[in-house]
Amino acid sequence: MTSTPSRSDPLIEQLARVVGTAQVLTDPADIAPFVTDWRGRYRGAAQCVVRPGNTAEVAAVVKVCAEAGAPIVPQGGNTSLCGAATPDASGGAVVISLSRLNRILAVDPKNSTISVEAGCTLAAVQDAARAADRLFPLALASEGSCQIGGNLSTNAGGVQVLRYGNTRDLTLGLEVVLANGEIWDGLRGLRKDNTGYDLKQLFIGAEGTLGIITSAVLKLFPLPKKQATCWLNVASPAAAVDLLNSAKTVFDAQLTAFELVSEVALGLVLKNIPDTARPNARSPWYVLAEFSESEPAAIEAWLAQRLDSEEVADGVVAQSETQAKKLWALRESISEAQKIEGISIKHDVSVPVSRIPDFLETADAALERAFPACALSFWSCR
Ligand SMILES: Cc1cc2nc3c(=O)[nH]c(=O)nc-3n(C[C@H](O)[C@H](O)[C@H](O)COP(=O)(O)OP(=O)(O)OC[C@H]3O[C@@H](n4cnc5c(N)ncnc54)[C@H](O)[C@@H]3O)c2cc1C
Repeated sequence: MTSTPSRSDPLIEQLARVVGTAQVLTDPADIAPFVTDWRGRYRGAAQCVVRPGNTAEVAAVVKVCAEAGAPIVPQGGNTSLCGAATPDASGGAVVISLSRLNRILAVDPKNSTISVEAGCTLAAVQDAARAADRLFPLALASEGSCQIGGNLSTNAGGVQVLRYGNTRDLTLGLEVVLANGEIWDGLRGLRKDNTGYDLKQLFIGAEGTLGIITSAVLKLFPLPKKQATCWLNVASPAAAVDLLNSAKTVFDAQLTAFELVSEVALGLVLKNIPDTARPNARSPWYVLAEFSESEPAAIEAWLAQRLDSEEVADGVVAQSETQAKKLWALRESISEAQKIEGISIKHDVSVPVSRIPDFLETADAALERAFPACALSFWSCR
């Protein structure tokens, strides 16, 4: 059991002097959403939640906590699925929410960069880029809530990782508040930067362990003028890997997404998510592929060949943006569908593409042996 800290607690008072009383939450009802993870799997406790409004305030808050010896948990949109944004149950932690650092600082279309504060939602960054006729290609189902600071700290991949890489590959510069409250200014937008060590890389994927990211300069790309989305039935993960290699050979960088979804995962979506429908015949596995800037005739010709060679058993090519969105919703609703079904154990496993079929077979068999009662095969791969 932990007791609610009083407003006259010296740490709370000091934090309130930095950010203002209204930005230090201590009431259990106010704190509750910050100490529970997105799936409701992890529940912790905290002395308070602090909401600084700018980098200087983040630095001052970190200094106060460091001097008091209070552990810090930085938090963005709280959508990560592995518990790192949730404080432990001791009640000693201070959660620092970055949500008020939500300004788009600058869009530079000529340098193809965008400078943002860490608490901007991913969707806000995408929208600001699109308004300047540019693409910020990181895209995740949680994009309306997750924040760019969280994306950087988890080195998020997203649905277009195949073409544009992880968040690490999309980052040119960072500003970070270090554990002692000093501000490290690496906020540069240089494409060619051959000076010294690339320190920003230490903070990307570090889950807040080395500092709190407060701002970033990110890469932008030309906005695709046309896109095609297909839902393809394949017999096995091995067939999907062959299909991926064929698509890469023919379309190269025009292949912007390639997702493997199991029938078990699709079944959960159809069962638990309203307004979803099976796109075509049932199959043990499906591939959701997206092509940018390709001619529809080229995609159709490639697909006809794949059907002839029986690599693909059946396929649907979206005929409108609405249909493409419906196909994407099937993939993007898998986490939500799993959450509704009950508490699941989440993994984000990376293996070389060529070894995915072996990995799935071996992992499924091992899990079945170890936990016979456990429901398996929710796999979705990219
Ligand atoms: C439906 C759904 C779909 C998802 N799809 C994907 C996907 O396709 N690919 C993928 O990679 N992830 C995915 N995720 C997981 C999650 O959305 C990402 O990990 C996202 O990047 C987390 O961002 P966040 O702002 O919510 O971070 P949080 O959950 O708040 O925090 C994540 C970690 O980063 C730290 N942190 C947060 N902000 C900062 C900061 N400013 N400075 C330092 N540390 C910080 C936290 O302490 C924690 O360790 C999905 C989640 C959901 C719910």
